[in-house]
Amino acid sequence: MTESRNYRLVHGGGDESEIPHVLIVGGGYLGMYTAMRLQKKLGAGEARITVVDPNSYMTYQPFLPETAAGSISPRNVVVPLRKVLHRVKVLTGRVIRIDHAGRKVEFEPAVGEPREIAYDYLVMAAGAVSRTLPIPGLAEWGIGIKTVEEAAYLRNHVLEQLNIADSTDDPEIRRKALNFVFVGGGFAGAEAIAELEDLARDATRIYPSISVDDLHFYLIEAADKILPEVGPDVGAKALNQLRLRGIDVRLSTFLESAVDQHIKLSDGTEFDAGTLVWTAGVKPSPVVQASDLPLGPKGHIDTNEFLQVNGVENAFAGGDNAQVPDLDNPGRFYPPNAQNAVRQAPVLADNVIAALRGGKPKAYRHKNLGAVAGLGMHKGAAQLFGKIKLTGRLAWWAHRGYHLFAVPTFNRKFRVLSDWTLGFFLRRDFASLPEMGEPRQAFEEASRPQVENGQLLRRVS
Ligand SMILES: Cc1cc2nc3c(=O)[nH]c(=O)nc-3n(C[C@H](O)[C@H](O)[C@H](O)COP(=O)(O)OP(=O)(O)OC[C@H]3O[C@@H](n4cnc5c(N)ncnc54)[C@H](O)[C@@H]3O)c2cc1C
Repeated sequence: MTESRNYRLVHGGGDESEIPHVLIVGGGYLGMYTAMRLQKKLGAGEARITVVDPNSYMTYQPFLPETAAGSISPRNVVVPLRKVLHRVKVLTGRVIRIDHAGRKVEFEPAVGEPREIAYDYLVMAAGAVSRTLPIPGLAEWGIGIKTVEEAAYLRNHVLEQLNIADSTDDPEIRRKALNFVFVGGGFAGAEAIAELEDLARDATRIYPSISVDDLHFYLIEAADKILPEVGPDVGAKALNQLRLRGIDVRLSTFLESAVDQHIKLSDGTEFDAGTLVWTAGVKPSPVVQASDLPLGPKGHIDTNEFLQVNGVENAFAGGDNAQVPDLDNPGRFYPPNAQNAVRQAPVLADNVIAALRGGKPKAYRHKNLGAVAGLGMHKGAAQLFGKIKLTGRLAWWAHRGYHLFAVPTFNRKFRVLSDWTLGFFLRRDFASLPEMGEPRQAFEEASRPQVENGQLLRRVS
């Protein structure tokens, strides 16, 4: 009822097939902000807008490490698409094939058979997924930190490792549970290990048998530095900060194997670890490969400075799934980050409008504003406008201030601020709910025979 009423606002109540259809693949940073701008600027009946995403929400990814640490509730780092896109049709499901020549995509809804959706204008905003390598055991035991589900899982998982270590009398099980391995020292990896080490360190207060010295956090990085985003000076200081906290950062080192959670590093070190987090890079969403759009050498959609896909008409792209030429550095592309995706969205939306109305497109040009990283409570690293370099508490405030400003909608800003304020007064919460991912387990167990020969059967999970 509501959907059809809102839909008419865009359709203008006329014959749908005569109204140009703008299809946006992906409702993340680029997709959501582009759709918001289009719904604001387009008049009734000018275009129909559809956003397709497997999730019903946009994820504010820079808050995922803090979500993993429990400083922000998972619900508060996502924005429900239907709440902000009231003049747009939102479809929950994924695009599995793109036939731009035929101006149609194959859409797979959350439930039901795939169907074709025709369009006139295409916006590719499908982002990126973790880029893994064929390392034995990685696919079976590793986890990324790209989604809110992964972040929420990691918090429960790390606390569960402390529960395991505190409850066993087997030293090998204990050692394995207290070994945490993170691979990749970029933004996501450095922030995630710093936040989760902070959580585990803080949590040892309530575990009588575990001291901070029992925790072993390893950060494995193939390059000879971490956090390249904040520049060499601040990156070196952040590295020092992590090492002073006891995090074992191994530079110029590779993960060679993780079979059965037995970690083998290229420097010869071997040990068992209950946690393996992979943050060593991203690659464009696989749907990009399932399209007839032109791709660059690393599999990104090849676009020009107007965020138009090169060589075809009426297709636009930006964000992590595209290579967008950096006009100030000829031959190079803008880095795939939120800073660019957010700023590309209004340019892209305006260029779609220009295409609809027969206007002139604008070029996308952006000067890097810097980068801010949170490295646990009251710790951080930041480089602002290429000049200001901060570490420690000041950088942490810069990180929190910037992201509070940048997180979409007043509602989310207020909720995040409330989480931080509660954390300040009540301190961190250590409740772990590892069974949340398997809510039917207790009911399934209750439905099975549980006692045999007078003995409670072991749990099978
Ligand atoms: C832990 C972490 C911390 C980060 N911190 C920072 C930071 O501090 N600063 C910064 O600038 N950047 C940061 N980034 C990077 C930033 O989040 C990304 O660059 C940004 O999200 C890219 O925006 P996007 O719109 O291209 O992709 P996304 O925001 O990832 O959105 C892509 C959307 O497309 C959807 N999608 C994928 N496949 C399909 C399909 N087949 N059909 C339909 N929809 C599909 C996805 O579900 C998703 O919603 C961080 C990333 C991570 C993981």
